[in-house]
Amino acid sequence: MPYDYDDQNIFAKILRGEIPNDTVFESEHTLAFKDIEPLAPVHVLVIPKGRYVSHDHFTAEASDAEILDFMRATAEVCRITGVSPGNGGDGFRTISNAGENGVQEVPHFHLHILGGRHLGRMLSRKDD
Ligand code: 5GP
Repeated sequence: MPYDYDDQNIFAKILRGEIPNDTVFESEHTLAFKDIEPLAPVHVLVIPKGRYVSHDHFTAEASDAEILDFMRATAEVCRITGVSPGNGGDGFRTISNAGENGVQEVPHFHLHILGGRHLGRMLSRKDD
């Protein structure tokens, strides 16, 4: 089944400048901005500017230039926000939710970068 991108999703509107955002970093193919409901002192969303629904969509169909730009942007965000262990930070977690089981709310691929506090275990062992 092909990936079905919805141009009315909230991140598409942010990319078109229809909704404001608190930008942390921007490059040719990538935008990083603060999450509107942060779950940690550092909570940044990194998104490609292209029309990709999810991580697997992006990595399957984006150009090498887009993927490289995106990955380098995540490093920049970690450095800028001070969470990069390689630059004196205390560490971070990246999360990308996809689809129903991944509990993805916004259907435009995004990577959460979370840090600034101890984040606990990755998942609980319960089914909640
Ligand atoms: P998901 O559940 O899809 O992985 O995460 C979507 C994230 O987008 C949530 O953490 C939510 O707080 C964030 N979000 C939703 N709407 C907006 C918005 O208009 N602006 C910003 N900056 N973040 C948003």
